[in-house]
This record gives sequence, structure tokens and C-alpha cells, in this order.
Amino acid sequence: MKTIIEPFRIKTTEPIKIISRKERIKALKRARNNVFLLDAEDCCIDLLTDSGTGAMSTKQWAAMMLGDESYAGSKSWKKFERTVQNITGIKHIFPTHQGRAAEGILASTQIKKGDVIPNNSHFDTTRANIEFVGGIAVNLLCKEGTDTGDISPFKGNMDPEKLEQCIAEHGREKIPFAMLTVTNNTGGGQPVSMENIKTVKSILNTHHIPLVIDACRFAENAYFIRQREKGYENRPLIDIAKEMFSHADAATMSCKKDGLANIGGFLICNDDTWAESFRNLLIIREGFPTYGGLAGRDLEAIAVGLMEALEYDYQVYRQATVRYMTRKLEEMGVPIVRPAGGHAAFLDAKKMLPHIPALQYPGIGVVNALYIEGGIRGVELGSVMFGGFDADGNEAASPLELVRLAFPRRVYTQSHFDYLIEVIKEVWQNKADIPGYKITYQTRFLRHFTCHFETV
Ligand SMILES: *Cc1c(COP(=O)(O)O)cnc(C)c1O
Repeated sequence: MKTIIEPFRIKTTEPIKIISRKERIKALKRARNNVFLLDAEDCCIDLLTDSGTGAMSTKQWAAMMLGDESYAGSKSWKKFERTVQNITGIKHIFPTHQGRAAEGILASTQIKKGDVIPNNSHFDTTRANIEFVGGIAVNLLCKEGTDTGDISPFKGNMDPEKLEQCIAEHGREKIPFAMLTVTNNTGGGQPVSMENIKTVKSILNTHHIPLVIDACRFAENAYFIRQREKGYENRPLIDIAKEMFSHADAATMSCKKDGLANIGGFLICNDDTWAESFRNLLIIREGFPTYGGLAGRDLEAIAVGLMEALEYDYQVYRQATVRYMTRKLEEMGVPIVRPAGGHAAFLDAKKMLPHIPALQYPGIGVVNALYIEGGIRGVELGSVMFGGFDADGNEAASPLELVRLAFPRRVYTQSHFDYLIEVIKEVWQNKADIPGYKITYQTRFLRHFTCHFETV
């Protein structure tokens, strides 16, 4: 088989600056050893997130010029509504400025204090929105999903038995809806099978509980179904997406992911009563229901982007990039999470740096070494982000110490990835020299964004 090439050529370029190793050490010191506090221009390959960081196509830029900025009922809104309806088959469509705005409106209108919301794994903003209104967010991930060495094809699935138990325990009056996140971001971008979506839906149906899909990476999930699930081998991705949404009563979406746009989101549902409550809150929080916090040109870019994310060649190339990376890392013996997820590679920092105890943050050690050696910005998903304090104020470690390298869409070429692999190789070879860290300043919530570190 020949090399899978990027299915695009480059028309506009954005320069990246490679500063010297010495300058990087200085920049990291200025940022108090926390890569969130670095200037983006000092990161030559920025893999902090795949959210809103993608490159738009010529068709998207052209569509932006057609942006109709009318306050109500614009042409751009009609195009957006038609596209989302075409992909999802869902009746009521509400644009929002981001995914979390959609979650906020859903949570505020449908959740009462003490209600329980099951999900395969809640994304952090979803959990925060549920807990903010007094709800309880529970994760019902399947067993395979919790094992970083397991290579099952659908590690993002919900465990149907746990769902039955959850409903039996709390009763359906306490569960206004359940969610499925496709792909499972928190669980490493692992996909959910069509069979699992159907099973979950049928359990919920017998209890009259609606299913809400967190659809941020719906197109990547559709691609995995086509690749890995029997009966979907030759199906167009849009058909698979339609089938996924045919089991949903509602969905939330961040168009910064598979909308291939830099901003935007939506909230959609079939139920007229839900729609009425969404509309009322949308007007207060986001804007008139035909623009919902977005410019007409954003609606245009998203309408085109959603369809481009469903192009088979695009997904083949995207997943080939992830696989290329992870195969090279496996060949070098670098410990990673397997199989690779849809939008990122995960390094296992605990296994990489066994000489660093969890509370000296091996993940930060790897993240900072990647920056110093190559100007690469990744993110720690370990004891800094997820570790907490127990009742006595003692710091507890997270079970996993991972480093996520998230892949922006259509932004970096194969030579960027070759460079990335070289940098990881260097870090891996010099791992014994990587220091542990301690925190010298932190906030009470979401400390990873702003805390300061010093080496131990
Ligand atoms: C990004 C994301 C969200 C939130 O979307 P924003 O646009 O960042 O507000 C919700 N769920 C999942 C699974 C996500 O990846």
C-alpha cells in the first residue's frame, strides 16, 4: 500500500518560530514551569488541545464571505439548520457559542437538585454543568475502558449492566436523561459501537429515559464504526452518523471539534417541550434562536465543516496520522495507551519515569522535557489535573499519570510528526535526567491551569 497522504494542499501558511533550547528553558522558567502559562508563539508544535485549533478549508473561508449577519432568520442560519438536520434527523436546532453553553442550557432546564446523570464518561465541562445545578454525574464506562493495555475496539462503550443497576438504584424519576459521549474524550478518545448505542437506548426506552449524545467527535466515531464494526464496512460516514443520531432524543455539540471550526456549538432535540425550555434560556444566555451567540459567518463555516468531517478520505488521513505516531512510539518502546484514540496519543508517564513518585508529578516531568527538548506543548492528565486532597488535607495521587498530545485537525504535516517523534525519542533516551516537580502556588479549583512548579 502506498503512503496515505494529506488530502489537501496548503494555500495559506502561518509561520512557526523555533526558538533555541536556551530560550525555551528561559521561557519555561518565566512560565513557572507550567506550559499553560507559556506564550503560544514560543511553542513550535502546539498539541495542547484539538479544540478550535483546526485549519479551515477553502470552502469554509469562501462560505464565511457569504455570512448573512441579519439578526433573525438569516440565510446562514437556514444553511446551518438544514445541515445539522440532514446529519442528525433531529427536529429542533439551537446554535450556541460552544459545547459547554449547550450543556449549560440542557442542565439548567432539565436537571433538579439530586438528579443523577449517567454517561460513559462525562467530559469535565459536562460534569461541571451538571454539578453546578445540583445534579450528580456518574460514569458507567465498560471494564475494558479502564485498562490502558487492553486493545478492545470499542473501549468507549457504556457498561449496560451498570446502567441497569444505576436505574434500579436511583429510580427513573431521579434520572431526567442519560448521556453517551462519542468518542469518549475523557477515556482517551475511544469510540462507542453502534451496538452499544442501541443497547443503551433500548434499556433507557423501557424506563422512558431520554438519551442525549455528546456529539463532539461524532464523525471520528462514525469512522471507527465503519473500520471496526461488522456490517458497516462500506457505508458512507454520513449514513453511520445518521444511524447513531437516530437513537438519540437530543444532542450537545462543540463545533470546535468535528465542526472543523474555530468556535461554535449546538443543542438539538426532538421533544417540543424540551425545545420550548431551551429556546427561553437560549435567548437570555446566548442570543436569538437563529444565531445563538454566533456570527452568521461562523454558522456558514460550521455548516461546511460538519460535512467535511464526514468525508472518508479526511478521516482515513486523520487516523493514519495517529496510528503513524503510535506505531513509531511502540517501536521505540515508549509506553503509551493502546489502542490509539481518535484525536490524541497518550504517553504513560508513570511507566516512562519510574524514578519519580506520583506526587512529584512524572507527567509534568515529561511535558516540560518535551518543551525543553523540542518546543512541543502537550498536557499532563495525572495527579496535577485529577489528584485531589482527602478529608485530612493530604494530597492523593491520580491512578494514571498520562501526557496527552492532542492533534489539531489539518494543521501539521508528516514532517512535523517526524520531528515530534525525534523529540520524544530524545526525551525517552534521557529520561533518567528528568526531574520531579513540586507545586509552589495553586488555586482551589482547576489548579493545573495556573499553578507554579519548581523542580525537586
Ligand atoms: C470539548 C468538549 C466539550 C465542551 O465543548 P466546548 O466547546 O469546549 O465548550 C464537551 N464534551 C466533550 C466530549 C468535549 O470534547
